[in-house]
Amino acid sequence: MSALPLPTILLNLHNAATAAGRPDPRLLAVSKTQPAAAVAALAAQGQRAFGENYVQEAVAKIEALRALGLEWHLIGHLQSNKAELAAQQFDWVQSVDRPKLVAALAAHRPAALAPLNVLIQVNIDDEDSKHGCRPEAVPALAAAIAAQPRLQLRGLMAIPAPWPDPARRQQALARMYGLFQALAVAHPQVDTLSMGMSGDYPEAIAQGATMVRIGTALFGARARPA
Ligand SMILES: *Cc1c(COP(=O)(O)O)cnc(C)c1O
Repeated sequence: MSALPLPTILLNLHNAATAAGRPDPRLLAVSKTQPAAAVAALAAQGQRAFGENYVQEAVAKIEALRALGLEWHLIGHLQSNKAELAAQQFDWVQSVDRPKLVAALAAHRPAALAPLNVLIQVNIDDEDSKHGCRPEAVPALAAAIAAQPRLQLRGLMAIPAPWPDPARRQQALARMYGLFQALAVAHPQVDTLSMGMSGDYPEAIAQGATMVRIGTALFGARARPA
């Protein structure tokens, strides 16, 4: 997959949303494995939100680009021993999937910063290989997050399985939308459903994604796997 210019991606998002009768989703530019210079180049075109998978790799870029005032999202699995650094450096953590992480992030969010925005990652296809909580675990985890003043519950994130059958992919995305709607009833501040990547973002937007996470389609194929 070769890279598309940012305006083309934004137009694609807009067209997919319009076709589905939905508002435009936010674009998270996934910059894992990309150098800080590539992030700066996209920021110069107006992109503000960037997603990273690895805390250490991200921190180097966050510190190098501090003056740009970008918004950084952690989208990769977070080990508990990295929670302190993540709470200090990121604006959002999209991969919260267990109570221990809730407590660790809340304990370490610096008082000088705004509350840390948090998404609950759901393992929607119940894959052994994937992180994320089971759908049934969302209400209790959401209540635990909402009880923490240093955390702000914003919604849900998923990485649905890339089933060859489009109907099966659509079912997983629709189940996520159902969970998101139920969560927003219990927690009215919830506004974010993060799903859709380079290969499936039009489908995710059609099913109600409010944020898509796009790497390859923006930056081109990654030199190393991440
Ligand atoms: C790498 C990654 C993406 C972006 O994937 P692309 O296929 O390159 O667009 C999105 N979300 C997560 C969680 C990722 O790890």
